[in-house]
Amino acid sequence: MSEEQEIAAGQQNDVEVRREMGVYSDRAVEDYISDLGMRLARVSERPNLPWHFTVVDVPAINAFALPGGYIYVTRGILPFLDDESQLAGVLGHEIGHVTARHAAQQYSKSAGAELGMILGSIFVPQARPFGQLAESGLGLLFLKNSRDDEAQADQLGVKYAARAGWDPAGVPRMLTTLGRIEEASDNKGVPNWLATHPAPEDRVQRVQTAVQQAEVGATRPVADREDYLKRIDGLVYGDNPDQGVVRGSSFLHRDLRFAIDFPPGWEVNNGQSQVVAKEPGGTSMMVLQQVQRPQGRTIEDVALLSMERAGFRVVNGAETSINGLTAFLGTYQGTLQDLGRVDVRAAHIRQDRNVFLVAGIAPTASYAKAEPDLSKSVGSFRPLTRGEAEGIRPNRVNLYTARSGDSWQSIAERQGKGIVKATTLAIMNGHAVNDQPRAGEHLKIAVAG
Ligand SMILES: [Zn+2]
Repeated sequence: MSEEQEIAAGQQNDVEVRREMGVYSDRAVEDYISDLGMRLARVSERPNLPWHFTVVDVPAINAFALPGGYIYVTRGILPFLDDESQLAGVLGHEIGHVTARHAAQQYSKSAGAELGMILGSIFVPQARPFGQLAESGLGLLFLKNSRDDEAQADQLGVKYAARAGWDPAGVPRMLTTLGRIEEASDNKGVPNWLATHPAPEDRVQRVQTAVQQAEVGATRPVADREDYLKRIDGLVYGDNPDQGVVRGSSFLHRDLRFAIDFPPGWEVNNGQSQVVAKEPGGTSMMVLQQVQRPQGRTIEDVALLSMERAGFRVVNGAETSINGLTAFLGTYQGTLQDLGRVDVRAAHIRQDRNVFLVAGIAPTASYAKAEPDLSKSVGSFRPLTRGEAEGIRPNRVNLYTARSGDSWQSIAERQGKGIVKATTLAIMNGHAVNDQPRAGEHLKIAVAG
């Protein structure tokens, strides 16, 4: 892959990443990440690439890169980094993937030429509403890198961070924390760091030598915890209401003003273009999405036409009202890539100018058993009043000074109102779980908005 091809591939897929994940819009945070990233990129082997640094608006804890110098950190990773040197380590690591051309190699290896096309297809829901649910095109971005590539990216991260004046020990500290997030995280959707990176324990070992040998470009290498904490104070934690929020097994959308309850205990994944709920360990699922450019005069026309286009045959159906909204409720049959023959209970619901599709899906063999749960959930779709909608606020990162007698448990309960677990708080602040906060220590916590 030539440099021009790398840049073109990055550019093309950057559009899809931004559309699917969204960009976290906070000028100060964007500028901060960009500035830090540019300082690192300038001391790398490829200072003249058109580097771009973006915070994507997803709660998962991860970072990734596209060929040609496109680097992304998720909003969700920021509260789990404990100082600026750790952020420099993450950015340096991803820059390392680009300078060592891992992204370019992986891109060509993984049928990368198809990537743009695959991504494209999940954004044409009327053509394939249930297509590729399990593996969205973005899944290709999260292929596991090889251990050697990772070790090399870690070492390059150490080198760049040190050269640009940060404490290179931020890299092993960051790796240690990210290695613990499985205990902490309950975010679904974009896979977390551990799913896409090898086990951190031996990476921490392997990178220590690089840390000891790093030539630090500053007389006093910077870790800068206090400044970093101020930078992320107020950051949205978890779901952003612009994209709808998951609360338990319910999904609420502030701007589109609706709510729906999925069956209790189901895992709800709030994607940019679809909300998918899955029965844990089972084969039933539910999909919620907006019908793009609905065609047809009546809601029945809209429903039948869009389902037919998606390759589903209508078994029965009738126009009805769901919590005061005009809807067409029907049963359909069709075939899905991963489930084979399925039965679908689907409602097309008109709310203001929008049409929403809520579909409960189960393999034909187990549909009868699943149907009551699916139908109940479909029927729970309801409009929200302005007051209810405005009451949906994001949780946010907040700073808190520990008092004597505080424990992770007491802070999680009293200040955090149970939004995060005690374990998560300890990990966020770089502590072992049974090592309690010291009085006077500045901590990151998550609070209700
Ligand atoms: Zn990596």
